Amino acid sequence: MSSKAALKRIQLIPELQKKYNIFTHIENSVAEKVLPDDSNDSNAPLSHLVTGIKDNIVTYDMPTTCGSKILLDYISPFDATCVKLLRDAGALLVGKTNLDEFGMGSAGTHSHFGPVRNPLFPNENVVAGGSSSGSAAAVAAGAVDFALGTDTGGSVRLPAAYTSILGFKPSYGRISRYGVIAYAQSLDTVGILAKDLSLLRKVFRVLDKYDEKDPTSLDNELRAAISNRCIKRNTYKIGIPREFIQGSLTKELAKELTEPLSNFLKKLLQQGHELYPVSIPSTKFALPIYFTISPAEAASNLARYDGIRYGTRSEKNDLEDGTFFSSTRDAFGQVVKDRLVLGNYSLCSETFKDSYIRAQKLRVKIIDEFDSIFRFPNLLTGSEGNAYGLDLILGLTNDGLPQSIDYYNEKKISSPTNEYKNDIFVTPMSLAGLPVISFPLLKGKPLGIQIAGQYGDDSTVLDACSLLV
Ligand code: GLN
Repeated sequence: MSSKAALKRIQLIPELQKKYNIFTHIENSVAEKVLPDDSNDSNAPLSHLVTGIKDNIVTYDMPTTCGSKILLDYISPFDATCVKLLRDAGALLVGKTNLDEFGMGSAGTHSHFGPVRNPLFPNENVVAGGSSSGSAAAVAAGAVDFALGTDTGGSVRLPAAYTSILGFKPSYGRISRYGVIAYAQSLDTVGILAKDLSLLRKVFRVLDKYDEKDPTSLDNELRAAISNRCIKRNTYKIGIPREFIQGSLTKELAKELTEPLSNFLKKLLQQGHELYPVSIPSTKFALPIYFTISPAEAASNLARYDGIRYGTRSEKNDLEDGTFFSSTRDAFGQVVKDRLVLGNYSLCSETFKDSYIRAQKLRVKIIDEFDSIFRFPNLLTGSEGNAYGLDLILGLTNDGLPQSIDYYNEKKISSPTNEYKNDIFVTPMSLAGLPVISFPLLKGKPLGIQIAGQYGDDSTVLDACSLLV
């Protein structure tokens, strides 16, 4: 990329912001940081590449709000490791991207800064998918070359599908979580959104590093063991889990899908890949498992926003209704409050065993089922791998087309579970920590296909994607 191309993108930003509400903060000084093309530093791997960072990843020179009123004034004293790596590689950070508050949502409609609008539909108000809605819209609209998002239960892949771009969630632990504000720490994963696969891979190479500051970062020994086992192939054994295709597909999507999907599958067969119908039975519990574990972790993580440790303190008395911090914590939006109630319910002594513990057991069962179908061993669980097993699994990313913001809000209000259903195809890979990429089935259409590999086998997922897109 050249300095001219970078400046051109940066100039577009104010106009695109007005149209799509992409950013929570725009860094106006970024144009001054563009290096001349002949400077030595312009050889850095991401030099002249413009990026936006999801606003739940901390930056020392810009606010980090998580899209929440409670963090409006917050500026971190340090950069997240992933942000530091991007800066060291020469990337230009143009701002922080809008999101569902604390990453809780599937459409980009639950931000204190208002909803993100989908650039695929410039003349309508259509949801961009969530929660990394601003990151996806920034890439789709051409405001940035690539963006960082976080994927706890689909939040990189769903907005990528809705805006017809690529969204990659690496294996859990590959990219450092240090400086990523926790929503549900056993699931939170930094992901990359871009239009171009080779650029996405370049960014991943910069970020895919062990970090001693993150206790869940994959250590160098395991990284080496994984890469020693990786084999590059030209054709793959691909499973299509019936649970990821049938599910609760809307009639509308089923109609849009039939022909392009069968053409896509025919193309795979012509390329020499082997396709197998498979079943991963416990994935049918993925939604209840996810919506038990993630709110429970959130209830614990978000306890720190009390106006003393973190968060803007309310001017009002903080002991209203006999509850500590209730007026300060009233700054949370409704969705966050709902999740905190749900999470605390799962953790309370009467329900703990039947909800939280049960969900954890079922999560292990899902991981075992994935382990049993993949050829590649899972070096975290110690599974040996199945010699006759699959390299990849393939399924849909979205089970419906993006709706208008008004319609979405109306439908959602009738019950929060209407929103949870959007995550039906994306949560299983999150629960198992698998690497997975979503790419458009058809260019410019809001339909995503996702391919996932065994834990740690990120390179097969990316290699295969380059053959399939
Ligand atoms: N839609 C899911 C949720 O609301 C996923 C969010 C995410 O991945 N951050 O929890």
